[in-house]
Amino acid sequence: MSQSEVNVASVPGVKDMLTRLISLPSISSASAKWDHSNEAVVRILAEWLEPLGFAVEILEVPGMPGKFNLIATLGSGPGGLVLSGHTDTVPYDDQRWTSDPFTLTERDDRWYGLGTCDMKGFFALAIEAAREFAGAPLKEPLILLATADEESSMNGARALAEAGKPKARYAVIGEPTSLKPVRMHKGIMMERLKFEGQSGHSSNPALGRNALEGMHEALSELLTLRSHWQEQYRNPNFEVQVPTLNLGCIHGGDNPNRICAQCELHFDLRPLPGMDMDSLRQAILSKVRPVAERRELSMEFEPLFDGVPAFETPADAALVKACEKLTGHTAHAVAFATEAPWLQKLGLETLVMGPGSIDQAHQPDEYIELAQLEPTIRILKGLIRQFCL
Ligand SMILES: [Zn+2]
Repeated sequence: MSQSEVNVASVPGVKDMLTRLISLPSISSASAKWDHSNEAVVRILAEWLEPLGFAVEILEVPGMPGKFNLIATLGSGPGGLVLSGHTDTVPYDDQRWTSDPFTLTERDDRWYGLGTCDMKGFFALAIEAAREFAGAPLKEPLILLATADEESSMNGARALAEAGKPKARYAVIGEPTSLKPVRMHKGIMMERLKFEGQSGHSSNPALGRNALEGMHEALSELLTLRSHWQEQYRNPNFEVQVPTLNLGCIHGGDNPNRICAQCELHFDLRPLPGMDMDSLRQAILSKVRPVAERRELSMEFEPLFDGVPAFETPADAALVKACEKLTGHTAHAVAFATEAPWLQKLGLETLVMGPGSIDQAHQPDEYIELAQLEPTIRILKGLIRQFCL
């Protein structure tokens, strides 16, 4: 890239960029009534990154028309640093917002708007940090990655992992962590178990096969498994140090004097790093299938969504050390999940660290503190210097 092709001045400042990003709805949701395309956000990012010398690739997420990932690369080479964020936001509750969620509004030394902290603000700041390196001879590439559908299916990150893109050495995901490095989180699984038997008059149990009684037995098995896992696995880095299993909802039967023919349970599991999701499902299956067989119930056991694996990067990893030094904070664990497992799958040493607090994410009157802006730019520039120059 020659200096002449770079046009730094055409790229707006942080506030103008974020104003624009916030004004473009990019909600992702399993509910079609809320779900938006993220194309406008991806296009505007490309419009700002190209004048800085980034080579931009926009990839449609397979099977999801209107949903795009963006990979923007400055420089070239096999290593390099990825700054990654998701372009989508969660839905919003109009009644509970003080100002318009799509209008960046400054008050009390904060910028309010849907996505300010989770996490369009990160893009504006990452581009601002990259501006200084436009036209610079980078030894390793700087890659800005923008994904689709993190808040709903995580299919953007999944598609990237399947496509084997991008290739680099390090990745920072700018989710709101108040600029504290995060090197681990638990996984999330949501599962559905359904038993189906045969209804009949309650006066004679031989007339039917009771799905509710089968579920009662299955519930005991699940709670026993939970105790077992909680004895076997513990990680003191987490506020809740053990893996959890929550019985979330149950529906079954219709009348006291009928044998219950159907019963369905939904539960969630939060595995610790080191617990493999497929093995957990197999363990559950090995306990509940015999219950169904013995009671001659038909059984369905399936994930309600594909799940997010747990994530951990070792404490002594180069990226962890670099972020700890730049921020003055020791890397810790958080209770929310991110796209980190898929970037890890791509072979990237990954860490989560970004401006804004997770307490403001997914809330009415979401905001980012103005005090977070300068430190973010400084830290990101420090990372680019260390890993790309
Ligand atoms: Zn987020």
